Amino acid sequence: MIENVRVRYAPSPTGLQHIGGVRTALYNYFFARSNGGKFILRIEDTDRERYSTESLNDLYSTLDWLGIDWDEGPVVGGPYGPYIQSERLSIYQDYAKKLIDMGKAYYCYCSEERLESLRKKQEEEKSSVQGYDRHCLNLTDEQRMELEKKGIKPVIRLKVPTEGTTTFHDILMGDISRDNKDISPDPVLLKSDGYPTYHLANVIDDHLMGITHIMRAQEWIPSGPLHIILYEAFGWEPPVYCHLPMVMGKEVDEETGKIKFAKLSKRHGSTSVRDFREKGYLPEALLNYVTMVGWSYDGEKEFFSSEELKTVFDLKKINKAPGVFDYKKLDWFNGQYIRKKTDDELVNLLMPYLISNRIVTEKDKMKVKSFIPGIKDRLTVLSDVVEMCKFVKDYKEPDLQLLIPKKATKEIAYKGLSLAYEYVKRAFNQCLDDTAMELQLTEIAKDNEMKNAFLFNPLRIAVTGEPVSPPPFSCIRLLGTDESFNRIEKCLQILK
Ligand code: GLU
Ligand code: ZN
Repeated sequence: MIENVRVRYAPSPTGLQHIGGVRTALYNYFFARSNGGKFILRIEDTDRERYSTESLNDLYSTLDWLGIDWDEGPVVGGPYGPYIQSERLSIYQDYAKKLIDMGKAYYCYCSEERLESLRKKQEEEKSSVQGYDRHCLNLTDEQRMELEKKGIKPVIRLKVPTEGTTTFHDILMGDISRDNKDISPDPVLLKSDGYPTYHLANVIDDHLMGITHIMRAQEWIPSGPLHIILYEAFGWEPPVYCHLPMVMGKEVDEETGKIKFAKLSKRHGSTSVRDFREKGYLPEALLNYVTMVGWSYDGEKEFFSSEELKTVFDLKKINKAPGVFDYKKLDWFNGQYIRKKTDDELVNLLMPYLISNRIVTEKDKMKVKSFIPGIKDRLTVLSDVVEMCKFVKDYKEPDLQLLIPKKATKEIAYKGLSLAYEYVKRAFNQCLDDTAMELQLTEIAKDNEMKNAFLFNPLRIAVTGEPVSPPPFSCIRLLGTDESFNRIEKCLQILK
């Protein structure tokens, strides 16, 4: 156990929650829980151009759906609030001012136009120096007053040392060093509208909120040295870093035909949690699988509930290599989790899909429940149920050809369907289960010296209109005997 752990998930609400982001959240969450520490949610919403309310709502609903609760953060509050960065502007402004007073930062009055032409020039000259040219580094107070008088609002820039190197330690990656001369010169900390940039707000908040460990995507490694320079400028101790290996997707290289890996993106399939949720992945399956992408317990055990992960999650077991998000594996996990549900649980999960597709209404719930044993083993995702139940609404009366099984005649099909029908009428009064019915109908086929298929196939096709469907007895249960018997009788007419 590590004492006094305080970690945070600090998303920017600029898009839907992504598999990679959620994995970061889960690692932080389980790390906090397994050490009896605190998990903090902080909203990094200072990029007002990319901010969207929809993504903030998506964040809350995703965490809620996954059952991730936070000890401090929006809604629940906490001793270091507010936890939404746009509500903390004066804090960042004060600290930026402190850096100015300590000589670690300075005001810059350069116009957008100047910076733009500087960029162009550097590009054209293929200059080795990139970024800001420190034009305002040594402005005198008089010069500054002049510019202020003109009404120009400055930004605040960090003085990045020009010599030496900056190093930080990462639990997974070891020491990461960067020559200071290679760090982009003097990034903006505070914009002219009073909003902080990511670097300033992130460092200040991690410090003020007492964050002990930073677990975030490896994409943030390049920001690491800059953050260390900021911590040093403030005279603060940086937290422990653990940058998480990327989540990759698998694809086939079009030229070579070989399998290759790249950062998980829409190219590979769905990446937003919302998509998975809508298709009918279960939260416990997604949570379990996503955690296993890049973490393992003992290399064998794969199934973990959230409760278990809250006790066994260990930072040391995060893989150093990138994790591969395998859609097929997730499908398999999901199927396994579906099979673990009781019929009562499943019916509640499936009803919304059937209702929104206008296949059944709320009052059909018991019928749907009786249908579940027939399909439980075939569901990969909950929405599969829609296809399986299409026959209820989209029934197309089969034609004669379809009703006649291979190697049978019209007469045989008629006899088969009649036998099946007689049997079904009797059996449905007796509350038998599918297996028992299947056995008995098989007996009947045998007694009449007919192939099973000659009874079962016309029955299935009469009831569903399709040669492939869930087990026919289940289908009858879902459809109800009245409608099912109507369909069968009509088909008997066709065969006559
Ligand atoms: N707001 C950043 C993000 O969206 C947080 C990065 C960090 O954890 O420092 O990923
Ligand atoms: Zn300037």
